[in-house]
Amino acid sequence: MVNLTRPAAGCLHDYQLTPADLVTLQSADILVVNGAGLEAFLDKALRQAPRARVIQASAGIPLLNGNPHVWVSPTLVIRQVENIAAGLARYDPARAGLYRAQAARYTAQVQALRDRMRRALQNLPARDIITLHEAFPYFAQEFGLRVVAVIEREPGSAPDARALAETIDTVKRLQVPAVFVEPQYPARAAETIARESGARLGALDPVVSGPLTADAYLRAMAKNLAELQRVLK
Ligand SMILES: [Zn+2]
Repeated sequence: MVNLTRPAAGCLHDYQLTPADLVTLQSADILVVNGAGLEAFLDKALRQAPRARVIQASAGIPLLNGNPHVWVSPTLVIRQVENIAAGLARYDPARAGLYRAQAARYTAQVQALRDRMRRALQNLPARDIITLHEAFPYFAQEFGLRVVAVIEREPGSAPDARALAETIDTVKRLQVPAVFVEPQYPARAAETIARESGARLGALDPVVSGPLTADAYLRAMAKNLAELQRVLK
C-alpha cells in the first residue's frame, strides 16, 4: 500500500501531481480515491495508471451541494470503509474475507467513537461555528452544528480584506462563539477574525492528511471532540 500524496499535502482539491506521483501511479494495480470530484487531478492520474482498477470510496453517498468532504462525518467514513473493502474483495478475491473482517473491526471502532461524540456534543450550549474551508458540512450535519460561514471561500487562498471584514461582521452579528483553524492551513485569517470579533479560536482537523497510522482518523476525531467541548462551552 502506497499513499500517493504526502501526509502534509492538505486537502486534495488543491493538489498537483508530481513527477514522482506519475511513476507511482504506473505501478498501481488498484487506486483508491475519495471521488465525488475531490481529486481534480484524477483524469490525468488515470491516464498514467492504465492498468489500475479504481475504487471510488464515496460511491453511493448522497452529496450536500456537490461537496466532496464526506469522510469528515464518521457515519459516512464507515460507508467509505465498506466501499473500499468491497472493492478490494472484488479485485483481490483471494483475500476477500480478510478485507471484510478488518473493515468490520475498524468500522466498529469508528461507530463507538461517533456514538461517544454524539452523546458528548448533544448538550453543548453553542452550535454555530465558522470553519477555515468548506470541509465540515457532513461533520456539522452529523453532530447538529451549524457552519455559519467559511473563511476561505476559494480553497487554498487567503480571504481578501473585504471578505475578512464580512466574516468579522457575521461573527459579531450572529454572536458566533468560535472560529476554527485547520492544522493543514495557515491560521492567520482565523486569528484576525477571532481577535477582531472576540470569538474563541479553536482547531478542527478535517483529517485530509496526518500520520500514516491505522488509528489516525480516530485520534484526529477524538481531538476534534475535545476542541469542540473546550471552545463551545
Ligand atoms: Zn477540502
